[in-house]
Amino acid sequence: MEIVRTGPRKRFTGISRLYPMDTAIGTLRVIEDAEILVEGKHIVWVGKRGEGMGPIEGEERIEMSGVICTPGWIDAHTHLIWAGSRQNEFRARLQGQSYLDIARAGGGIMSTVRAVRQTDTSKLIAEGRHRLERMLGYGITTLEAKSGYGLSTDAEIKILRAIRALHEEGPQEISATFLGAHTVPTEYKHDRASYVSLVCEEMLPAVAEAGLADACDVFVEEGAFTLQEARRILQRGLDLGLQSRLHADQLSSGGGAELAAEMGALSADHLEEISPTGIQKMAEARVTACLIPGSTFCLRQHRYAPARAMIDAGMQIALATDLNPGTTCSESLPFLGTLACLQMGLLPEEVLYAVTVGAAHALGRADQIGRIAVGYQADLAFFAAPDIDYLFYHYAVLHTQSVYKHGRKVWPSSP
Ligand SMILES: [Zn+2]
Repeated sequence: MEIVRTGPRKRFTGISRLYPMDTAIGTLRVIEDAEILVEGKHIVWVGKRGEGMGPIEGEERIEMSGVICTPGWIDAHTHLIWAGSRQNEFRARLQGQSYLDIARAGGGIMSTVRAVRQTDTSKLIAEGRHRLERMLGYGITTLEAKSGYGLSTDAEIKILRAIRALHEEGPQEISATFLGAHTVPTEYKHDRASYVSLVCEEMLPAVAEAGLADACDVFVEEGAFTLQEARRILQRGLDLGLQSRLHADQLSSGGGAELAAEMGALSADHLEEISPTGIQKMAEARVTACLIPGSTFCLRQHRYAPARAMIDAGMQIALATDLNPGTTCSESLPFLGTLACLQMGLLPEEVLYAVTVGAAHALGRADQIGRIAVGYQADLAFFAAPDIDYLFYHYAVLHTQSVYKHGRKVWPSSP
């Protein structure tokens, strides 16, 4: 077969173990002494060294002996853009206050909202860029980022513009989600219906018209939004061309998973308290479950999402950081992989699936990213480790050797 050249050719060769992630969850294909050929931004060949196309003049050869290779990791749920910090709440929680106590005292989401409203776009971008650099060091080449700390039309748009600017700047690709329905802001506390109308009739049309989001998310929870409110907001989003996501069944089983199935959502996230019916409905509707062990861990709760039951039911699962300033402040997806192993009983190959193929499904991009296969984007993460078990066993340290996005080396950045 003749390959149409679309850019310079790179040959990654001698990779000790390569995980193409081209099989179902729980099964693992490993290629030892592997080679990947990349032309321009895409993979044109992958297999055992010496079995594919021979060298051509001018190609770049990159020796990768002693390192393992996975697809670039995908973080399918982040609140990337915020201002300020909430380490005071971390301390308050250590001293016995609950998340709800803190929110009632003016902390929680609203304290970040006040900080974001007072911060200009360039500062939001600078802080977001810093977080993205850290994520890149963990091998994260694609992510999702939500608004939701603005809660006014202008401030929500400001956050989405910051996300858009960082996506255009690269190297990571960022899928933007509008989360105007994160919480009812204080000024609408006694008139929540008006806030829901503002989201539906002003914010969503403005966001859609500016083309600033791919999806619309609602936090369905006691104290946040009801099922009826969420249905109205998500339907308005769908009518305007935005796919649905939900923060669902995190602190109580409120029918969020069932609603995600009803709306044909891309993903429903958290799901610590999902009901057996919710599992069945999401599996039938092929909604990806995005698991967030970091929030359970950091809020010192004990119930992790029932990942095993979800996998057994045939659900697609993703694993994400939920990076945010309040409930779980970490960019380290590998550390959350260790948590998923230890607290949810996942095997390393299931975790790797969840941060590649599963997460690509959560973003609706499973035909382009999340696998090392011909035609896929050349988004690659290399680790100085003997195998993937080691990545999660030797936890909370950096194993990354290098990261490539669209075939270009993006980490470590050259001096
Ligand atoms: Zn979240």
